[in-house]
Amino acid sequence: MTPFVDKNYQKAYNFINEAYHIVIASHINPDGDTLGSMLGLGIVLKKMGKKVTYFNCEKNLPRKFDFLPSYKKIKQILPEDYDLFISVDAASFERVGIAQDIKTPSICFDHHKTNTNFCTINIVNQNSISTSLVIFDFLETFELTITKESAICFYTALVEDSGFFKFDRVNSETFEKAAKLVELGANPNKISDLLTNRNSLAKIRLMQRYLEVLVLKQNATICLSKITLKDFDQTGAKKSDSDEFVNIGLSLATVKLSIFCYEIDYENIKFSLRSKSDKIDCSKIAENFGGGGHKRAAGFTAKINEYDDIIRLIIDN
Ligand code: 5GP
Ligand code: MN
Repeated sequence: MTPFVDKNYQKAYNFINEAYHIVIASHINPDGDTLGSMLGLGIVLKKMGKKVTYFNCEKNLPRKFDFLPSYKKIKQILPEDYDLFISVDAASFERVGIAQDIKTPSICFDHHKTNTNFCTINIVNQNSISTSLVIFDFLETFELTITKESAICFYTALVEDSGFFKFDRVNSETFEKAAKLVELGANPNKISDLLTNRNSLAKIRLMQRYLEVLVLKQNATICLSKITLKDFDQTGAKKSDSDEFVNIGLSLATVKLSIFCYEIDYENIKFSLRSKSDKIDCSKIAENFGGGGHKRAAGFTAKINEYDDIIRLIIDN
């Protein structure tokens, strides 16, 4: 199987070879793909003798991923000195949550069609189901050692971004790569158990709120629900506990587009969009409001006072 060949591979490899201290950064509202890609790559780079700092700008990381090797090493601030910056699963600097003044060379590994080529070298494969597989291809090309710990991270990233092999870009190659990760030591049953069977009661209570306020629009083809700060407060649930609620709405037979919003603070509200077919391009909708993502999964952040107008605009178009 020939891995996806990118003309920038060699340049990226040279950057990595020449660097000593490498920062790997994951995106805001981190998901399994960005965290698994970051940690999986970092473990390989450490094996190469590099000093690695893991960066995520969020105070609270989703506990769901706390079993990933090196999860506890993730830092909230960038170090003073480093000589290479690597972004994983983010389409822009804004998504990493840092100002655009990185002074070192930078590499971006991603799979979003909305990627802005914001790094010195950009390795972006839109056809890949997860960023972890973009990185896996790269590492395999240079025959770098992928340990069991790395495989666990990449496999977790893969199952999270593919909905456990359900989503539209899943193909035979996805399974070939998954098989390799399993051979390297990722245990599918154990990882699935860790990801899906450790919910808190607070999360289930929050889900109850999601269901209570869920409404259908446009002949029941659009589903809409919202979680407020009060809901988080009263249930004791965390923001990341709501990460998959949008899929509950999408599971309704008549629904073609599922919209889920949650209040981030008193001013800002996060929108998640999911669709069942490419006919409704979520990333196009999200881009209208300054966000991005994929055709069937995208998101953006807006001001709470713009909520009604935004919903009207989405629903009427
Ligand atoms: P989610 O709805 O789970 O937050 O995100 C779905 C997809 O859209 C992910 O691939 C995520 O990276 C992307 N996404 C979510 N919010 C934003 C945003 O504010 N800006 C951009 N560019 N992408 C986003
Ligand atoms: Mn991803």
